Amino acid sequence: MHGHESCSRDRPSRAEAERPCTGEARLLLLIIVIIAEESMDLRARLKSRGHKLTPQRALVFQVLTENAGRPMRPEDIFRCCAEKGGSMSLPTVYRTLQLFTRLGVALPVHLHEDAQYYEINLGKHHHHFVCIGCGTVEPVEACMIDQMKEVVRDNHDFLITSHCLSLFGYCPGCLSEQEN
Ligand SMILES: [Zn+2]
Ligand SMILES: [Zn+2]
Ligand SMILES: [Zn+2]
Repeated sequence: MHGHESCSRDRPSRAEAERPCTGEARLLLLIIVIIAEESMDLRARLKSRGHKLTPQRALVFQVLTENAGRPMRPEDIFRCCAEKGGSMSLPTVYRTLQLFTRLGVALPVHLHEDAQYYEINLGKHHHHFVCIGCGTVEPVEACMIDQMKEVVRDNHDFLITSHCLSLFGYCPGCLSEQEN
C-alpha cells in the first residue's frame, strides 16, 4: 500500500544514545491503561483471524505499546524483547510485525530510511517530525493530505487511497544548540 519513495535527503544519524525501551514517565499511566484494554482486544483480534496469542506475540505487542508514538525498527523491538527476558528470534519479530500489520494492530512507518519502522496503531491518523540532528521522532497529528483528496481527484482524476509523509528538520533542543 505504501510505495517505496525516492528521496535524496541525507539520512539522519540516529543517536546511539536513543533508547526506545525507556518510555517517558508521563506516558506510563496512559500506557498501563492501554495495555490492559488492548491486550484483551489483541487476543480477540488474533482469534477472529484464526491466530493464537503466543507469548512472543504478547511480548512484541507489549514493547510496541510501551513505546506508543515512537516508531521502532524490528531490531529495536527484538532488543527490547531480549531485555525483558523473552525467548524470541529476529525472524519471529519480523513475522509478528507482518501479522500485526495485516490485523491493523501495528502501523508500518516510513522515515525515508532503508529500515522499515513500526508502531502500535492507536487509531489516530498522524505523521512524524524527524530531527536530522539527533534522530528524535515525534508524532504530529495535523494532516493536510485529506483536504487535497478532492482537488487531486478533480484536477488529476487520481483517487488517493493512502499516503505517507514525514517532516524533516531540527527539534527544539537541536535548534537552540545551533543558535548558541
Ligand atoms: Zn507515529
Ligand atoms: Zn534534535
Ligand atoms: Zn496524513
